[in-house]
Amino acid sequence: MKILVVNAGSSSLKYQLIDMDGEKELAKGLVERIGIEGSKLKHSAGDKKTEIAQEIPDHEAAAQLMLKILQDPEFGVIKSTDEIGAVGHRVLHGGSAFTASVIVNDAAKQAIRDCFPLGPLHNPANLMGIEACEKVMKGTPQVAVFDTAFHQTMPPKAYMYGVPKMYEEKLHVRRYGFHGTSHRYVSRRVCEFLGISPIGKKIIICHLGNGSSLSAVMDGKCQDTSMGLTPLEGLLMGTRCGSCDPAVVQFIANNPLNDDGTPVGHSISVDEVLTMMNKKSGLLGISGKSSDCRDIDDLASKGDPNAKLAQDMLIYGIKKYIGSYAAAMGGVDIIVFTAGIGENNADLRAQVIDGLEFMGAKIDTEKNKTRKEAVISADDSKVTVCVIPTNEEIMIARDTLDLVTTGKVRDN
Ligand code: ADP
Repeated sequence: MKILVVNAGSSSLKYQLIDMDGEKELAKGLVERIGIEGSKLKHSAGDKKTEIAQEIPDHEAAAQLMLKILQDPEFGVIKSTDEIGAVGHRVLHGGSAFTASVIVNDAAKQAIRDCFPLGPLHNPANLMGIEACEKVMKGTPQVAVFDTAFHQTMPPKAYMYGVPKMYEEKLHVRRYGFHGTSHRYVSRRVCEFLGISPIGKKIIICHLGNGSSLSAVMDGKCQDTSMGLTPLEGLLMGTRCGSCDPAVVQFIANNPLNDDGTPVGHSISVDEVLTMMNKKSGLLGISGKSSDCRDIDDLASKGDPNAKLAQDMLIYGIKKYIGSYAAAMGGVDIIVFTAGIGENNADLRAQVIDGLEFMGAKIDTEKNKTRKEAVISADDSKVTVCVIPTNEEIMIARDTLDLVTTGKVRDN
């Protein structure tokens, strides 16, 4: 069966068509600037690449264009949309309602709508993507795969915040965690790769990209994760500040600064502070130059003190989470690095593991040069340290296939 994986944003629609017979990617693409001037589609199928610039007023038009190019005589890979067995959609927030992926029906759509306040930027866009595909592919099953679902096994002591309990009971204020599809894929894949069962294993996954999160996984189930009610909590990220004293929000709201460091002269709203914490902070905010880890490394190696500080803060933060998750689980057997930084940045991996010999983790400098699936720990390291490239699309496609063929996901 061929499965189409869709990730719809407010002005974008990313897609990948996968042949599940061999789990082979057939084609992928991105529709950008939906509803904005300059909209276009970028598509590739194997070595063939094309770009179409045209007006794309809404998500339905984007979905239509995606289907057209997938059936194109030159750049397409299917003859008819009937070849698409089902569509799997990435949905950011499933709240507490979804502990696993589901086939989309009216009740599921309503539950996704109910989560709008928890994912105000992403969930409405994700639903628009689902509804657009429903319209242009009538009768094709649609599946929703939630970024939060894998973390639903966290115990209350890990997901509760210390604010009055009624906020969780009435308004669902709690830790949800994100990147769940990645954490789930990587936690399964590392065990498969090592030829071991997840049962009895304590694993720490470091998903380090523009957005970064760690998770503690025991017996294949998530015990804790670093992102929270929103993706702002946890590690220092590309443009997000990560965890800090909540009183910082009030202090900055009352004493805001312009980009040049001069006082604004009046207070700003909590929303404005949070926008700054989401978009202008992290590696970008500390270095003052870039949110991209490659630029930060480059600047730091040339002696830029603020880039070096940003790098140090990121590495120190990852170490602290690894230490705390090892303590929370009563040990750690496997540490995994994944996503853009985790898969590619050998120096950062080495610096994170450096000094963790006391808990049995030691890196092998030669093995650590990899960018592929590999064990990178030393032969005498008690903790196995690995690189496992993430593959959220495959996880979404697998769940979609499972739900439409057997009615349940094979391994949640
Ligand atoms: P997103 O969260 O947007 O999916 P990615 O997983 O693509 O992010 O990660 C982006 C980060 O990964 C950037 O900080 C970038 O510097 C880093 N990165 C990506 N590719 C490489 C590479 N080849 N070498 C070093 N760093 C990389």
